[in-house]
Amino acid sequence: MALQPQSGAAGVGGRDVSDDAGQEDSGLDDAALEEAARKLFAGPVSFLKSAPELKFLPDPDVAEIAFAGRSNVGKSSLLNRLTNRNALARTSNTPGRTQELNIFEVGVPVRLRLVDMPGYGFAKAPKDLARRWRYLVNDYLRGRQVLKRTLLLIDSRHGFKDVDREVMKMLDDAAVSYRVILTKADKIKASELAEVTHQTQEEARRHPAAHPEIIVTSSEKGLGMDRLRAAVLEAALL
Ligand code: GDP
Repeated sequence: MALQPQSGAAGVGGRDVSDDAGQEDSGLDDAALEEAARKLFAGPVSFLKSAPELKFLPDPDVAEIAFAGRSNVGKSSLLNRLTNRNALARTSNTPGRTQELNIFEVGVPVRLRLVDMPGYGFAKAPKDLARRWRYLVNDYLRGRQVLKRTLLLIDSRHGFKDVDREVMKMLDDAAVSYRVILTKADKIKASELAEVTHQTQEEARRHPAAHPEIIVTSSEKGLGMDRLRAAVLEAALL
């Protein structure tokens, strides 16, 4: 099946993010999008590079989808499961590289790039590290035309923390479209998951730049991965 949407030119940079994240149209229905996404992520995915500053990023010639979250939220596990690889994200997650943007390329020729943002909010982080994180991420969010959407990972056990709310404010202020992804859904009881899903959904909907539908995932169980892959492809087609 062709991966191109009816409008063509998938992944070409410089297009505006949809005004209303709930009303986007990739030109594919849900089932076709999931199937296209499944095929895309079953194909080649590779680590390209780590970029400590914007000038080290590749040319902005394809769509980028960024992944953000508190350290330990399960971001590496999610990226590995999403891309059907065991150690893709970890290979670049060595200490010292934690304040860099890790770039992965999906498809040959490259259809989209995944950008793994450094984790935030670890308790013992020195102040200047937090400042560096803010500069790097703000530069990226504000300066990168091909960034189509940020996926904001939230641990199901905790829901939003204040530090997550600070990041949502950065995203709202930068007018970067984002979508909330709950992680580690297997770690809590179904009733607790229903409650945190409801609360998180309600709060996300109060944010202007947030997608109205959150996605519940478990990298451990594979839960939500089809939807997540489709969400990545859909955002890349915006
Ligand atoms: P990162 O720091 O955000 O990259 O987080 P990691 O992917 O390294 O995950 C942090 C910890 O949570 C590790 O011990 C993972 O095994 C665990 N973890 C991540 N995702 C899941 C999940 O879906 N379910 C469960 N039970 N554990 C998870």
